[in-house]
Amino acid sequence: MDNGEMKQKLLQLREQLQSTAATRDGSAQVVELDQSKVGRLSRMDALQAQEMAKASVARSQRALIQIRAALERIENNEFGICQHCDQAIAPLRLQVDPTVLLCINCASAEEDKS
Ligand SMILES: [Zn+2]
Repeated sequence: MDNGEMKQKLLQLREQLQSTAATRDGSAQVVELDQSKVGRLSRMDALQAQEMAKASVARSQRALIQIRAALERIENNEFGICQHCDQAIAPLRLQVDPTVLLCINCASAEEDKS
């Protein structure tokens, strides 16, 4: 997969995220509007659902930031280079997640630390 294809994949991912994030924003609002009409228990359910919706919107936003960064790296010809050791990241790893910043060695070293 070359950088052009990777860029297409990232743009596709971004579109998917943007459409689902918009849907979730919508459902979070609906819950808010219904709060006065529902009982106490279901209100708690509704609040919980709203928190979950908010959390997934936050997740989508983080992913969107990562995608934007990956697109910038393609533009700067830095894409696929480990930010830690400057070695090429395995193409298979990039296919699974084009937004990864570290090669497998550095990524597992990071995991060991945390
Ligand atoms: Zn590395």
